[in-house]
Amino acid sequence: MATIDGLPPLREVIATHELAAKKSLGQNFLLDLNLTAKIARQAGDLSECDVLEIGPGPGGLTRGLLAEGARRVLAIEKDQRCLSALAEVEAAYPGRLKVINGDALEVDPLEHLTAPVRVVANLPYNVGTELLVRWLTPDSWPPFWDSLTLMFQKEVAERIVAKPGSKAYGRLAILAQWRAEAKIVMTLPPEAFTPPPKIHSAVVHLKRREKPAFEADAKILSRVVAAAFNQRRKMLRASLKGQAPDIEDRLRAAGIEPTLRAENVSLEGFCALARELA
Ligand code: SAM
Repeated sequence: MATIDGLPPLREVIATHELAAKKSLGQNFLLDLNLTAKIARQAGDLSECDVLEIGPGPGGLTRGLLAEGARRVLAIEKDQRCLSALAEVEAAYPGRLKVINGDALEVDPLEHLTAPVRVVANLPYNVGTELLVRWLTPDSWPPFWDSLTLMFQKEVAERIVAKPGSKAYGRLAILAQWRAEAKIVMTLPPEAFTPPPKIHSAVVHLKRREKPAFEADAKILSRVVAAAFNQRRKMLRASLKGQAPDIEDRLRAAGIEPTLRAENVSLEGFCALARELA
């Protein structure tokens, strides 16, 4: 069957290069190139952008990104077995794909990227949240990326876009929404992957804000939010007792009732409290 790029279908690639999925590396592959092209389109027009992809695996999403016109793709893959398959993609798109064999938690991609950069990835579940938190908390703002288009387990995606009053609302929502506009743009059933995971997945698109949604010191905000959600069932006057001797007054000054729980305080409220505690 003809593919979008004339390269062999992914099932054939996996068979030829003996890429039986490894659970330890979070390998759930996307084999439908129409689907990977659709995911690539969620990142917008990539023709003027470098794309950073984590975990290209056999190259399904990589091929989607290149077929959709990404200027260049830098792909970091830990599994050495995938390199020969990816070399064939490199050859089909001369000068547009660079593959680094390494651990995304250790490799510094910056020296290989030219702005503007967008990150697009079907992330390995075991390092996905850690990578997202790193991208959202760089030493300085703006970060190296303009947007992040990332596949997560649906439950993690829901925590990223969650609003106050929901169970999913917590540190991840505040961290993400303070710095970026975040929305779920696609959901995928287990059958979309080979092998199918137990859970549904979702693609989240995060577009970085030029400046944070509300003024606050990043370190204080992070500390307060961590304390508030570490004891999320407690009232804030109890969970935040260690933050200031007069915490009830500070909460009121920030417009927050001290008897509320963390999950009922908006992002704006937490930022106001961080300013009160500065
Ligand atoms: N992009 C491919 C796709 O959509 O079919 C594969 C996605 S699969 C969910 C995750 C990929 O990340 C695997 O290829 C796995 O080998 C790779 N991986 C796992 N841990 C990694 C790490 N720490 N650094 C880089 N790649 C990693």
